Amino acid sequence: MNFQRSTKDTERHTRIITDHLKAATFIIADGIKPSNVDQGYVLRRLIRRAIRSARQLGLEVDQTFTPQIAEAVIEQYGHVYTNLKEKQETIHSALETEEQQFGKTLKEGLKQFEKLLNELTSKRVNGTDAFHLYDTYGFPLELTKEMAAERGLNVDEKGFAKAFEAHQELSRAGASQRFSGGLADRSSQTTKLHTATHLLNAALRKVLGDHVYQKGSNITADRLRFDFSHDEKLTPEQKDEVEKLVNDAIEADLPISYHVTDVQGAKSEGAIGVFDERYGDEVKVYVVGEGANVFSREICGGPHVARTGMIGKFTLKKEESSSAGVRRIKAIVEGGAEEVEVAGEE
Ligand SMILES: [Zn+2]
Repeated sequence: MNFQRSTKDTERHTRIITDHLKAATFIIADGIKPSNVDQGYVLRRLIRRAIRSARQLGLEVDQTFTPQIAEAVIEQYGHVYTNLKEKQETIHSALETEEQQFGKTLKEGLKQFEKLLNELTSKRVNGTDAFHLYDTYGFPLELTKEMAAERGLNVDEKGFAKAFEAHQELSRAGASQRFSGGLADRSSQTTKLHTATHLLNAALRKVLGDHVYQKGSNITADRLRFDFSHDEKLTPEQKDEVEKLVNDAIEADLPISYHVTDVQGAKSEGAIGVFDERYGDEVKVYVVGEGANVFSREICGGPHVARTGMIGKFTLKKEESSSAGVRRIKAIVEGGAEEVEVAGEE
């Protein structure tokens, strides 16, 4: 072994551990939790990268170490940044939970990664495989890239982004069971927009036909974006009708609940969803409405609002082409409940 190089590696890993966990400590103090979306994803990446560096330095894995590093950060900066001290417990438990979860998935994921390398026919890890590592084993893309780089390989990032988009709803569904509470962004506005997405999906099928399938979904705090299979531009009448159907469903204040079933059960009750082998044995089906008045039935990980009336007014902002045979809609909701109640199991 080259001593020079391993010293350099040690320094690099040590710096990664301290820098990343320092940043993570501050981010958690700001109220962010590790998750697979937005800032939560950045946070998760920082923590997981630090954990991986610690493993590479040969750290024993029987107990968690990230909370101790955070304690040191709080010790050092707490008198200036007083919120660090106020959030000490939150920081501790968020890091501990994330580290424990990652420990479990890392082991399995590394096995999977090695297997994948043995099957490689080029110097490139394809996007679908990278996404599988992310979706199933919680490997951030950065981690896969780095592991690949260590072996002189690269990762098809465009392919990853594509797979990510196509399975965004899906990964929420599957992974929410794997990382308890980690994935979904549960703020009220995104929950409202998420339920509105289901209403939109159902309304499009009612207006345009059963050939409409979800091709992608992306929700930020400001808007929803929904891609679906359809060949032509929507007419102004169709747009009006879709918007009206969604708003009628909101005004009807329909209850929303979910039940757990298997893929076959979901199919036979007519639930829509991106049927895929990545679904686990159990899936959640969210139902909007009840009895004869069911508006939508869709496989999804949630969360959703408890009643459609909480969503507020739905406005279709834009309808455009996304790619061949796929249209894209952007829409907003306004004036709904400030704090929503979340739909529960029926
Ligand atoms: Zn959904």
